This record gives sequence, structure tokens and C-alpha cells, in this order.
Amino acid sequence: MDLNELYQTVILDHNRRPRNFRALDHPDRTAAGDNPVCGDQFTVFLKLKDGVIEDIGFQGQGCAISKASGSVMTSMFKGKSAEEAKELFEDFHRLLTTGDVDPAELSDMSAFAGVHQFPARIKCATLTWHAALAALAGESEEVRTEDEPS
Ligand code: ZN
Repeated sequence: MDLNELYQTVILDHNRRPRNFRALDHPDRTAAGDNPVCGDQFTVFLKLKDGVIEDIGFQGQGCAISKASGSVMTSMFKGKSAEEAKELFEDFHRLLTTGDVDPAELSDMSAFAGVHQFPARIKCATLTWHAALAALAGESEEVRTEDEPS
């Protein structure tokens, strides 16, 4: 199995069985993300405790990349502070735009390295991440990827 196949397997698995794919009861923050170019629409729900993401969920519909990316994002953000979440997003965004994977830091996030070959899909991959960061920042407006330089 080559690396691309492995990456596809990870993405397909997260798409088929997305982690944390649920709305939270009484969330502290929510934010919606809309990627009209592809038709991806998700809402992210957060529970915060002492500045840390105690629980996180997401719901909605979209392509395999957007849904799998939401699954990976929620798995990685749980237990993290807003600052740590922002750093994870910066790593993820670098990965999506360069395709460079640090072999020392392989994670499910690494599966998205191939997306850099399809720049239009970067917005799919970052949609739920932008929504989660907006929710963390306390912004409740809808995040539209068209406004993002991506
Ligand atoms: Zn999409």
C-alpha cells in the first residue's frame, strides 16, 4: 500500500464514521461554516472549561474531505486551549498548501497532505476548522470560505 492509498483510507474512514459527529446539549459556543463552492455546510459546537475545549461536536453535510476533516479536527481539538487549537490549524494549513509532512509528526491530519494538489479543495478541508476557531474566538456569525484567502 503506498502512502496515497493509506491517506485515502484514513480520509474514507473518517468520512464513513466521523468522530464527534453530533450536536452538543447546551454548547457554550457554536459557529456555522458554509463553503458554497462545494456545498459543504457544517455547524461546530463547543463546550469550554477553564479555557480548554472540554467537548466538541459537529454536524452538517458536505463532501468526503470536509466531513473527514471535521472528524479529525474535533478529535485533535478536544482537550486543547484556543492557543493550541490555533497552532494546530497553522500546522494543518501549512500541510494543505505545501503537502509537506513531517515524518516525526504523522497523525490523521497528515492524510490531507494530498489536498495541496487540488487547491479548490483546501476550502473543503479548512471549513470546520475555521468554524471552530470562530467559535473559540466568540464569533457567532457564519463563516463563509469565500471571504478567506485560504
Ligand atoms: Zn467540499
